[in-house]
Amino acid sequence: MELTNGSYGIQSIALTTLAEKYQTPLYVYDGEKIVNQYKRLKNAFDGTRVKIKYAAKALTNQSILTLLQKAGSGVDVVSINELQLALRAGFAPADIMFTPNCVDFSEIEEAITLNVHINIDNLPFLKKFGEQYGSSVPVCIRINPHIDAGGNEKIMTGHRESKFGISIEQEQNILDIVAQYKLNVEGIHVHSGSDFKSADAFVSAAEIMFKVAKDYPSLSFIDFGSGFKVAYKEGDHATDIEELGKKMSSAFKAFCAAYGRELELWFEPGKFLVSESGLLLTTCTVIKETPACTFIGVNSGLNHLIRPMMYGAYHSIFNVSNPTGKQKKYNVVGYICETDTFGKALDISEAKEGDIIALKNAGAYGFSMSSNYNSRFRPAEVLILNGKDFLIRKREVFDDLLKNQVEIFSAETSLQV
Ligand SMILES: *Cc1c(COP(=O)(O)O)cnc(C)c1O
Repeated sequence: MELTNGSYGIQSIALTTLAEKYQTPLYVYDGEKIVNQYKRLKNAFDGTRVKIKYAAKALTNQSILTLLQKAGSGVDVVSINELQLALRAGFAPADIMFTPNCVDFSEIEEAITLNVHINIDNLPFLKKFGEQYGSSVPVCIRINPHIDAGGNEKIMTGHRESKFGISIEQEQNILDIVAQYKLNVEGIHVHSGSDFKSADAFVSAAEIMFKVAKDYPSLSFIDFGSGFKVAYKEGDHATDIEELGKKMSSAFKAFCAAYGRELELWFEPGKFLVSESGLLLTTCTVIKETPACTFIGVNSGLNHLIRPMMYGAYHSIFNVSNPTGKQKKYNVVGYICETDTFGKALDISEAKEGDIIALKNAGAYGFSMSSNYNSRFRPAEVLILNGKDFLIRKREVFDDLLKNQVEIFSAETSLQV
């Protein structure tokens, strides 16, 4: 997104034009930014056999999946439906990693018939896997290394009380099952939360995995999950991907030398690839002055972007319709009958009814977490690619709210109460 000649735009398309053409609320994604983030990550690990598996749950639109597939990415999926969507978007089974948690075992069985990589994250399933498949199907094991990645508690997944992965304290149990069923362990995996503060913290977490890896002689890869932080506001700490690339690459090369073979280095970024590409465009419905503050009310809410309310996430907000106006303090709130505050005491250029208000960094966990709460339609989605705008999802319509409802009170049933 850039401000040129007093107008905000993406690849020279004005945001006001997009808001007019597709109406609001609207998700807009900059395809160039997504591809550049992918390339940046690949380049940062130049010289290693790095493989990127985009975490599909961050933004699951088919066109986004295909865009990343064409850029060269693989994909990490967490449900059988995401897996089917990834196949449909063009990913080869060999480029798909299935990392479920607490799903029914039948989903894993189905995934195995589709020839994707399987990541197991509990002991009962590892045993079941052994009983059914023995060494005939390669398996990856998700380890919980008990590290506190720091940052937001709500997104930590690698601490001792976490529901994810098999505890590192249960290593012997894993090894017993592996030996009993002669499992072909092709990979070990860790995803320890999404908020690594520094490259050094990442590398020291990696060292734990290098130690674990020595117990599995037939590995082809180690999957380090994600943990890449992106800046949500100015001055925010973001992972220095180039520094991380250098440090991790040399640590990984040293490990491979000791291990005796060159393995693949896998990552599963979601936010890093798509967060900054996305904007949520809304329209100001009302300016509401109270004795306490001034609200900008917008035609969206936690039904479209729940991150601020769910994680306390910060999203920068700006007035597309008044790019150079005088700054005022505002609380930006949604139209849902809950306290759906998008931002408090923000400096935004003076707003009036009808102005286009944009929320930044809305690409990841925006649309994919959206709902119909308050019987509102989910927004449309637009992808900007090669300087053109493409509608990649239509806005919902009234019939979508009724779809799948079975209305039992009809003339035919003559049900009485
Ligand atoms: C969600 C998830 C990711 C992606 O996390 P980001 O913070 O979006 O980068 C990666 N791996 C697994 C297993 C996940 O569940």
